Amino acid sequence: MATIAFIGLGNMGGPMAKNQIKAGHTVRVFDLSPDAVKAATDAGGVAAASPAEAAKGADAVITMLPAGKHVKEVYVDGGVIDAVSKGAVLMDCSTIDVPSAREVIAAAEGKSIHMVDAPVSGGVAASEAGTLTFMVGGSKEAFAAAKPYLDVMGKNIVHAGPAGNGQVAKVCNNMLLGISMIGTCEAFALGEKLGLDPKILFDISSKASGQCWSMTSYCPAPGIVETAPSNRDYKPGFAAAMMLKDLRLSQEAAATAKSQTPMGKAATEFYEKFVADGNGGVDFSGVIRTL
Ligand code: NAD
Repeated sequence: MATIAFIGLGNMGGPMAKNQIKAGHTVRVFDLSPDAVKAATDAGGVAAASPAEAAKGADAVITMLPAGKHVKEVYVDGGVIDAVSKGAVLMDCSTIDVPSAREVIAAAEGKSIHMVDAPVSGGVAASEAGTLTFMVGGSKEAFAAAKPYLDVMGKNIVHAGPAGNGQVAKVCNNMLLGISMIGTCEAFALGEKLGLDPKILFDISSKASGQCWSMTSYCPAPGIVETAPSNRDYKPGFAAAMMLKDLRLSQEAAATAKSQTPMGKAATEFYEKFVADGNGGVDFSGVIRTL
């Protein structure tokens, strides 16, 4: 069994760390929030005084942090890359901007340490169930070293190519998700205003050319897909503020790559308004209420 340093024990990281503990690993935990640390130590984790202390001599480091600046803070300024031994593997599972991901991985590789970016798809429920999808960027060797640890937390582990490509896949997927959710909401709102029962539209469209995940697995109109947040007053699920974060990352990435994303831009502006109107904590499918 291995020794793992787990840093960032929030809504997603907390359950992911617990799954590593359940798998029998020794898990050293660190978070700025004492409550998050307590929940992890109650589950069998060992509290560390700093990220570097957690990482020293560990076989693996896993991070689940809010944004690129926190990831740089932990790995570079916080001394994790300096603290780990050769042979350790580092996995950043946070959703962050592509340049930060590539910069931190280059810093690790500069010290001959394997590191991958491995952002996830799937929310808190998938994190608890250990059924996340991981989109992984990094060398073949780094991917092979990371995979056994990711297998404990996920059911679909995909190597997306070199460093940063996990974040590229994540940002493209979530830009498409934001666009398709708004489209689904518009279709259901329009249909209802024109006198069409949303359930009948669902029965038709979910088997026709308009079908997409936002409709079939997460229908924003209530009373159709049982597990969808629309059936619990749009309690997240995936909060609109999180969708906005990912859409902003997509727009930063599009600007860097000089890629035209007019629908991605429109979706970003749409969620910016929704969140500014006080709906940041509402599920992202709740935009149907504004139509
Ligand atoms: P969260 O805010 O619940 O957790 C983040 C944790 O990081 C907090 O406990 C915070 O105290 C800790 N933290 C911040 N800076 C730190 C530092 N310098 N050192 C140590 N700990 C620090 O967020 P979350 O929902 O768990 O999301 C984490 C990441 O996963 C984000 O990048 C998010 O975009 C991504 N993600 C979230 C979801 C979701 O449904 N929540 C889904 C997919 C991806």
